[in-house]
Amino acid sequence: MDAEHTHTRPRPVSVPLGATVTSTGPTAQLGAIRSTGGPRPADPQRPGPQREPGAVRVTGAPTEGGLQDRFGRVATDLRVSVIDKCNLRCTYCMPADGMPWLPQTQLMSADEIRRIVRVAVHSLGAEELRITGGEPLVRKDLEHVIAGIRADNPDLPIALTTNAVGLDRRAQALKDAGLSRLNVSLDTLHPETFAELTRRPHLDKVLAGLQAARAAGLGPIKINAVLLRGINDTEVVPLVDWAVSNGFEMRFIEDMPLDGDRSWSATNVIPARDIRAAIEETFTLSADPRGRGAAPAERWEVRRHGETALAGHVGIISSVTEPFCAACSRTRVTADGRIRSCLFSHEETDLLTALRDGADDEGLAQIWRDAMWAKPRAHGSDRVGLARPDFVQPERTMSAIGG
Ligand code: SAM
Ligand code: SF4
Repeated sequence: MDAEHTHTRPRPVSVPLGATVTSTGPTAQLGAIRSTGGPRPADPQRPGPQREPGAVRVTGAPTEGGLQDRFGRVATDLRVSVIDKCNLRCTYCMPADGMPWLPQTQLMSADEIRRIVRVAVHSLGAEELRITGGEPLVRKDLEHVIAGIRADNPDLPIALTTNAVGLDRRAQALKDAGLSRLNVSLDTLHPETFAELTRRPHLDKVLAGLQAARAAGLGPIKINAVLLRGINDTEVVPLVDWAVSNGFEMRFIEDMPLDGDRSWSATNVIPARDIRAAIEETFTLSADPRGRGAAPAERWEVRRHGETALAGHVGIISSVTEPFCAACSRTRVTADGRIRSCLFSHEETDLLTALRDGADDEGLAQIWRDAMWAKPRAHGSDRVGLARPDFVQPERTMSAIGG
């Protein structure tokens, strides 16, 4: 290992993953909002997820139309996690081991995902879908999931966020099933750093997956990288250079407190301004004239110094140092069918149990409207800031929420 790779993150504080904190209160309604936990232990007596007591309802939600919240935002960008498992163990996301997986019975089936997406698009105005996880490619029926969604929604942009391990064998089938575009997570171009960061030696598989995706015509392809101080923070320019040379858009994501080791520290975050400064040593950045809209990434055009030709694009997602919560248009569903109105929420709303109990489309849509009406202002609370002292990390890790 080189000297630059010897940094280790602070020793993790042991926090029992998957513990469920449940508030007390009246008996739950379908779709009750509850204090959350990560995946819950299976109850062999019940096929579906358990209902949680302790509904906290925020009243005043609209009873028709889309997914509005109390702060005037409207969620049109749907992210659905299709599995909590993963074939990598990125240090900023998952613990090395000990992750409790959802029992198969609690995972949404392909038909359940299809139904939930149909309600979101047809009844609630969702305009785009991102499929995520865990690692979506770990699901053997991913092509079937996508084909079902595509059959109901011929014009819906369907994107996939993946680590691309195994994509070389499935890129064409995913394209044929109706996948529109791809984000591939790749934090480093060095095999040894990749193995350290993901705890698996699979860089070659990711690169093979990317090649196959391009050959299958799955584009545009964006590369997502999380920069970690002392591990891959020297790779900003090499990653941009490599990405734009290959026709990919490079995106840097600030490290967020959603890791399984609970070792996140604000001082270890590489801030967006430092990422921009590093890129500007080699490239000229100019604001993308297409603007940002509700997109999480601030997008830049990239030109090599002294050249006028456009080399490509870079996006920077600065959730920690330059939060964009006021423009957030996202609504999330976890792999066990729970609505999360915010990545950092401490509440979830159980949509899957309602679906399994026979709720009709309008019933499901209203549960979703109620859940989104209660969306916090920012970062899981009505106060802004991930680095503030009273910020409480959600119990679920990024992999169990669906990034
Ligand atoms: N396994 C797939 C992948 O890695 O692309 C999809 C799921 S992963 C949770 C989705 C995205 O979340 C990835 O781009 C990953 O880099 C990002 N991510 C995971 N943990 C993160 C953290 N603590 N802070 C910022 N981004 C994170
Ligand atoms: Fe797996 Fe993606 Fe999390 Fe890495 S970031 S551990 S690939 S879910």
